[in-house]
Amino acid sequence: MKEKLLEAVIREMEIGVLVLDARKQILYMNPFFKSTFPVPQPVTQTPAGGQGNFSVGDIIRDPDLLGAIEETLLSPDHLPVKVTIQGRNGQVLEVRFLHFVEERAPGLIGFFHDLTEEKRVEAIKRDFVANVSHELRTPLASIKGYAETLLDGAMQDRETLRNFLSIIDKHANRMTALIDDLLTLSMLESHQMPLKLEAVEIRGLINGVIQGFEKNARDKGLKLTGEIQEGLPKVTADKVRLEQVIVNLVDNAIKYTNQGEVRVIARGENSHLRVDVEDTGIGIPDKDIPRIFERFYRVDKGRSREIGGTGLGLAIVKHIIQAHNGKIWVTSSPGKGTAFSFVIP
Ligand code: ADP
Repeated sequence: MKEKLLEAVIREMEIGVLVLDARKQILYMNPFFKSTFPVPQPVTQTPAGGQGNFSVGDIIRDPDLLGAIEETLLSPDHLPVKVTIQGRNGQVLEVRFLHFVEERAPGLIGFFHDLTEEKRVEAIKRDFVANVSHELRTPLASIKGYAETLLDGAMQDRETLRNFLSIIDKHANRMTALIDDLLTLSMLESHQMPLKLEAVEIRGLINGVIQGFEKNARDKGLKLTGEIQEGLPKVTADKVRLEQVIVNLVDNAIKYTNQGEVRVIARGENSHLRVDVEDTGIGIPDKDIPRIFERFYRVDKGRSREIGGTGLGLAIVKHIIQAHNGKIWVTSSPGKGTAFSFVIP
């Protein structure tokens, strides 16, 4: 029983296991090891899990790895040896060798731990911190610059004073918006804020959002309308979060549209609620579409910042829709317009 259990664990685990004898002949490799380092054909597999007459050098040529094997075999005090190597497909593998005494002769056992995903996540985190610092530094530098100019004497002129203070205020608002968005995103990602599900009446929700944006739309000469299917049943959702989604999408649609209209369309579709926010704006180039929901991704950084964007709105929207077991996507044609669409059960 014990033996079978052990065998099953070693076979199934997502860590490569390699056992060698003192002459570096392979005694055992588990499936994960074999998938990372394909064995030259043909392989004659013995029932005991032995691998025919292969030396480790037939499979891996990495000098660091071979050196570590040598070191483990020769080490008089049987200390474990650790080494990091690259797999065939660029994976990052951390390998640990332990002295392993077989019935008759000494050998070694190696554990191959795939760190590729961990490294990828680390890189994302690093990028994220770099992005946040950059995003905060830009408005901060402006605030500092204008404040210093005022202190250097420009404040004597009332007109300049008013002007510069309003610029400082604008940049401070941007920093506040950025920090608010970051906190929302972080709470969504760490699942600290569970959805407060309730039956939501979608007509009232959309009409409320449209009312809130009427002045913005009018100021830009845009027509803003809602088309909500009659008799649409209530949907089970977190009302505040769902509203945030529609607010973000309508806000973007207005921001990135210079003439024409913005329409919010809601209807039932295969036991889902479907909402489309369509605009006749600048559109999104094909090449940017796959990355548009990433944090801080913007088609035109300068333009987004100028109109007060944080680059986090769509990342938040996507999180909220996914938390509702829904889907969101975008279709766009540059110069003609964009449609963001989502469905939730
Ligand atoms: P931002 O705060 O920059 O608007 P978002 O995450 O909301 O950040 O959007 C990311 C980017 O997607 C924007 O910078 C813009 O380039 C593009 N975008 C979003 N919505 C639209 C739209 N309706 N039309 C054109 N481009 C859009």
